[in-house]
Parts: sequence; structure tokens; C-alpha cells
Amino acid sequence: MLPELDELTREDLMRLVAQYRLRLSKRLSQHFVIDPTVIRDIVSHVLPNSRVLEVGTGIGTLTYYLAKVASQVITIEVDGRLVKIAEKLLSGVNNVSIIQGDALRVPWPQVDFVVSNVPYSITSALLMRIIREGVSKALLTIQREVADRLVSSPGGDNYGRLSVITQCTYTINVLATYPPDSFYPSPEVYSSLIIMERRKPCYEDLEKLELVTNMLFRHRNRVIRWVLSKYLGKEAVDAVVKAGVNVNNRARQLSINEVVQIVKALNPYINIIRTVAGKSSIND
Ligand code: SAH
Repeated sequence: MLPELDELTREDLMRLVAQYRLRLSKRLSQHFVIDPTVIRDIVSHVLPNSRVLEVGTGIGTLTYYLAKVASQVITIEVDGRLVKIAEKLLSGVNNVSIIQGDALRVPWPQVDFVVSNVPYSITSALLMRIIREGVSKALLTIQREVADRLVSSPGGDNYGRLSVITQCTYTINVLATYPPDSFYPSPEVYSSLIIMERRKPCYEDLEKLELVTNMLFRHRNRVIRWVLSKYLGKEAVDAVVKAGVNVNNRARQLSINEVVQIVKALNPYINIIRTVAGKSSIND
């Protein structure tokens, strides 16, 4: 059994992880939390009696403490070995359901929070799923560099397509940053805890926003006049100018609002843009 959260120590967590002598998978980004501060920080932002979906159960330590505040925790883990271990750790806890499967594929229940120490390998895809599902709040620990991208402003070094798409639908704040040794085995990177809160979207049609940003951010340092003429021709440039956007801006300088103006102006070109986008994804 695990102690109360305010008495939990790093040694308790480390002992638990070590006792299973697991061969951990790099591919599945298996880095388990051993710093109780991470758990305390996350749990402190979950509202009592809320419904929580956790992605990546691991051995179930964070799950255990989430279940103490939430009314229900549904947790998804892809690795069957870990599901067995977590089932044991959580056997006395009656408000947790463990689903074995790929969190990017299994259907998601309606919840108040999505919580995850995110497997780094699925970060972008998980963010896109959160946005598409319309999740109202998410608490995520992600690689610090990705957190920097999510909160960066136009013109900043880290500003890109992911910043635009996420900020269009969420208010994002960084709550804390943790060193690599907060997890075992230590990843090579620092991690940041972020909170994402749904806001009124900057634009309703997410697919169009994804398509247009895909095209614009292929050449983030080029003036958009160049990008638009390359893919769509001069008339598209005129349409964007008419919408009041300065086409001498570079993609990396565009505010969310300017991106929305461009998406609206390019509506007649959306099928061509779809061909440009082809099969590429947010990870490109
Ligand atoms: N929440 C735990 C585990 C974090 S490690 C903790 O904080 O200690 C990330 C976990 O996500 C691993 O257990 C890994 O097996 C799991 N995982 C990786 N890819 C996944 C996917 N696509 N769907 C569900 N779980 C996944």
C-alpha cells in the first residue's frame, strides 16, 4: 500500500518501481514518476469529485493518488505487463478502471480532466486528440521544449504550427518544470507540467486551420507572399491582402488572429491546399 500523499517520499516511489525489475521500453517512453512533488502538483490541480482520464498508467502510482480526489479515474495503458502490475497496486481502489490499449486509438469517455505524464513519443498526436475531442481541461507533463513551443508568442524562436493550433482552442500555462531525475529511468530532457483550459476557439473549422497552417509553416521563415504564390498563385496573394493581412510577414510572425484571417480568405482554395498537405501530419 502507498502512504498518504503528503507523506509520500522519493524512496517509496523508487522502491516500488525497482521491485518489479522491469525491462523498460524506450519506444513506449516508459519513464516512471519518482518525485512526489510531480504527483502533488498534478493532484492539487484536479478538482474534487471530477472525472479523470489518465493516459499511460505505468505501474499506477499517479493513478492511485488521482483516485483519492477524483470521483472516477479511467486510465489507459498499452503495455500489458504494466496493466497487470497496476491492477495489483489499485486492487483495493474501487473508482479506477484500467483499459489496456493504445490511448490514441481507443474511444475516450467524457471527462472533466485528461491527465498524463505523457509518453514523449506520442506528445503531438495526444495534443491533437485532446483538441479534436474538445477536452475541457488537461494537465500534462511534457518535454520542456514542447511546453515552450505551446506557450510561445508570434516572432518567438519556438513559435510554430503547434503553438497556433493549440492556442486557437486552449489557454495554456506552464505550472512547474522538473529535472530529468524526477523520473526513472531518467529521460534526457527536463519536463514541464502544463495546464490547458478550453476556450472559445479562434476558428470553428479545425481541419481547415490544420490544412492552411500546414502549408504556411512549411516555410516558416519565408514571407507569406512567397508561400502563397508558390502553392496557390497570385490571386490567392491578392485575396489575403484584401483580408488586411500584411503578406510581407513570415509565417513565424503571424498572430493567431492573422492566421484566422488567412484561413477565411483562402476558403475558395481549400481543395488545392488539401492536395498540398497530402499525407503530412502535425509532426512534420
Ligand atoms: N503515469 C506513469 C507512467 C508514465 S510513463 C507515471 O507517471 O509513472 C508513460 C507510460 O505510457 C508508460 O507506461 C507507457 O507504457 C505508456 N504508453 C506509451 N504509449 C502509450 C499509448 N499509445 N497508449 C497508452 N499508454 C502508452
